[in-house]
Amino acid sequence: MKTIEVLATGTMMPLIMEQLEATFTLHRLPAAQDRDAFMAAVGPRIRAVATGGHAKMDDAFMRRLPKLEIVANFGVGYDSVDAAWAGPNGILVTNTPDVLTEEVADTALGLLLMTVRELSAAERWLRAGQWVGKGPFPLTAHTLRGRSVGILALGRIGKAIAKRCEAFGLTIAYHGRSEQKGVPYRYYANLVEMARDVDILISVAPGGPDTFHIIDAEVLRALGPQGILINIGRGSVVDEPALIRALKDRTIASAGLDVFENEPKVPEELLAMEHIVLLPHVGSGSQHTRRLMGQLVVDNIVSWFSGKGPITPVAETPWPRPKG
Ligand code: NAP
Repeated sequence: MKTIEVLATGTMMPLIMEQLEATFTLHRLPAAQDRDAFMAAVGPRIRAVATGGHAKMDDAFMRRLPKLEIVANFGVGYDSVDAAWAGPNGILVTNTPDVLTEEVADTALGLLLMTVRELSAAERWLRAGQWVGKGPFPLTAHTLRGRSVGILALGRIGKAIAKRCEAFGLTIAYHGRSEQKGVPYRYYANLVEMARDVDILISVAPGGPDTFHIIDAEVLRALGPQGILINIGRGSVVDEPALIRALKDRTIASAGLDVFENEPKVPEELLAMEHIVLLPHVGSGSQHTRRLMGQLVVDNIVSWFSGKGPITPVAETPWPRPKG
């Protein structure tokens, strides 16, 4: 397969780079200032792209790769790839579902507990010597006891979060574009109504235009002054300025956020708030899970060029694996 030319759009894990380099002719996308010349010279020969959330794969970019057959995305969320354009233009898009589901759900529960029980503030209290100086950490205003959660986007990760929430004795509801058969949780067709009825709103919704800012000022008002928002999905789903206002004026009680609108930049107003929890997008971030994700990126490209079809194509390019 050495004659097949593959492009990596950024620094990816050694596991990915080493295997792609050994199997194909691998190119690395250069820094922005040298990109035009590179794309003109090498672009016409590229047949596969390995990419991640760090690079925007829009139609303008893909048009410069006329022989492109497959975009293999590192991550289950592929909102940085214009799959809706790729599909009709004959370009397959793959992502890395399933292998990260349990890890992200674990992180979501960690973030939930940290936020509700103010665990990071409690640790800061201890480390700053305040346990000795001022006494015990103040009792937390919030608890998970007797509480309800509403999950926005009950997909693979949403269901794994729900399973964990069940074990914690929480009442569970969900919102998505349609009701799911065989799911034992209450379905809300309307996100505002669900936010009004639950204590904690957990978002694990994908990014992209359809979910842009669907958690807005109205949803936050409905969540209310005792309400807590957990976002482990995508930053773009939450109207961040509206969230900052809601946290400042206590329209909602608190938030636990693993994802942000303009990563890795986090608004100063959020950084300054002691009563919320902020994580640097670590949902799937264990070596174990990232290795599985990286391997799936490589395996999708190898499988495609071996004539075995994609392993994990996205919904917009549901191309089958050939029989036999
Ligand atoms: P999934 O199985 O495809 O589930 C996505 C869910 O989103 C579906 O159940 C779908 O339900 C719902 N959905 C889609 N569009 C919607 C809309 N407009 N309104 C409401 N619900 C909508 O994906 P997954 O594997 O669970 O991953 C979900 C997302 O988690 C990813 O896309 C990614 O953005 C995020 N993620 C974050 C991290 C992290 O490190 N923080 C790690 C991995 C993934 P309906 O079809 O019923 O609407």
